[in-house]
Amino acid sequence: MNTYLKVATALLAITLFAFTATPPEKKPKTITAVIDVSHGGTDAGMQHNLLVEKEIVRQIAEKMANLNKNQNLKLHFTRKEDQTVSLHNRVGYINAIQPDVVLSLHINANDKESASGVSVFYSENGAHTQNAQQFANRLVSAFEADGVFSTTEPRIAPFYILKNSEAPAVVVELGYLTNPHDSKQLQDEAYQDHIAKTLLSVIEGQ
Ligand SMILES: [Zn+2]
Repeated sequence: MNTYLKVATALLAITLFAFTATPPEKKPKTITAVIDVSHGGTDAGMQHNLLVEKEIVRQIAEKMANLNKNQNLKLHFTRKEDQTVSLHNRVGYINAIQPDVVLSLHINANDKESASGVSVFYSENGAHTQNAQQFANRLVSAFEADGVFSTTEPRIAPFYILKNSEAPAVVVELGYLTNPHDSKQLQDEAYQDHIAKTLLSVIEGQ
């Protein structure tokens, strides 16, 4: 083998090795999510002892926006200010975006002070039912692992936003304003951050 051929063979070997050793660059999957910031404006949602649902969900949504450092996770919000947004307009917004997932944030209340914990709902929604159920299950698992709030299995509920979103959609009730333990956590800045991070991690796994 002459020198030229040796060099050429070596180069070919290196080239082949380079091709086989380096896996093709994997493009990270982009996830688009709509965070439905419930109530707002003239609709306060649940209220108890100066705590107002529309305010707490807005605070948690804002924290989600600020804490999201994942460039491949695009978050859209149905409202950012204290404004009234109809369910019809929320669904219109969601269906124009066609997101991978919809997460509707709510806070519960009950006549019984003992009622507490996180509740997750999804709906029968055609082709999206299975993905919505899986997303609901992962949300419950995340809060179970967290251990701060009690949780129950996801339930089916015929909520307008769940039935009419052309995407897997889930409603999460993040504890009860009427329960002393839950309400203490819900107005705690550090715990709000923690909830926001938990929700982001579940969406990132979508
Ligand atoms: Zn609500």
